[in-house]
Amino acid sequence: MFDALMIEKNGDSQTTLIHRIDDTMLPEGDVLVSVEWSTINYKDALAITGKGPIVKSFPMVPGVDFAGQVIESESGHFRPGDRVLLNGWGVGEKHWGGLAQHARVRSEWLIPLPPAFTTREAMILGTAGYTAMLCVMALERAAVTPDSGPILVTGASGGVGSIAVMLLARLGYIVAAATGRPTETDYLKSLGASDVIDREPLTRTGKPLEKARWAGAIDVVGGQVLASLCAAIQPRGAVAACGLAGGMDLPLTVAPFILRGISLLGIDSTSCPREERLKAWSRLADLIDPKELESVVSECPLSGAITAADDLLAGKIHGRVIVRVQ
Ligand code: NDP
Repeated sequence: MFDALMIEKNGDSQTTLIHRIDDTMLPEGDVLVSVEWSTINYKDALAITGKGPIVKSFPMVPGVDFAGQVIESESGHFRPGDRVLLNGWGVGEKHWGGLAQHARVRSEWLIPLPPAFTTREAMILGTAGYTAMLCVMALERAAVTPDSGPILVTGASGGVGSIAVMLLARLGYIVAAATGRPTETDYLKSLGASDVIDREPLTRTGKPLEKARWAGAIDVVGGQVLASLCAAIQPRGAVAACGLAGGMDLPLTVAPFILRGISLLGIDSTSCPREERLKAWSRLADLIDPKELESVVSECPLSGAITAADDLLAGKIHGRVIVRVQ
């Protein structure tokens, strides 16, 4: 028997509790993993609190990320004892996820733990860090280089934002961090931001084209913030858009696209092809010094996951929350 956080639906409401279950209750898959660490991403917080339509079937074990050790494998690609990690693929949404001491999943969703990281460090990065890396790689493909000019990161104190600031600074970009929390200024500067700006002006409707300030941007907020920053991107610049923390809509005009030739680059970590995932994790291993991750992390046991989810949506957490599952 082992512990699993489980979301159950009761009519229009849901309950999230820790249950004692066994391996026979786990969904199908060819690899059984002893989960050591999982995380609370924005999506997990929406699932756990029921504030967003993330869970597609009930009961559900949430957790879009986990890292741990293989217990049993029917796949030729993994053996008992191998350390592995998983991000996305609908795990924690359609297939039971990482906020349980055991997970049974399909081998093609797993990747070997990069030797540079422990399972704990891999989860400090987690989907947030891997998504931040995908955003940086998208900007690089769009020819936005450190010489192009400053890059704006929105939602900078959050998980994706914090790691994006770290990565861009490490690569030599000049990074401005937009935040709604001025109290996080020192934190953001310690991650490598050279400038910290208030997000409030970005939340107001502006002109179709504003002063072209940014060579590129990584946006986790969406809505008016994404529209405002597209209007302020330099000619031929690009925005990697991955989030909706501020809303799903996009009140944009075509002006930045047809008058400045900017690009809007969509980032989807959940179903990103395996080859690109491996590349992103290999880049993370090259760029991140695991010791530096301690400044972005807070940690809780499985029993603290619900409080952590509430706190994340209330904007009380900076950086990443990892969950000690064992
Ligand atoms: P966090 O909650 O850790 O960070 C989100 C940050 O956004 C907050 O810390 C806050 O930063 C800012 N923010 C929150 N609410 C608002 C608001 N109403 N208006 C403007 N800014 C706001 O979440 P994550 O970093 O885990 O995820 C960020 C977003 O990226 C989410 O929407 C998530 O779903 C998405 N995401 C998408 C992925 C993909 O594959 N496309 C993968 C991973 C995440 P501050 O206080 O500094 O302003």
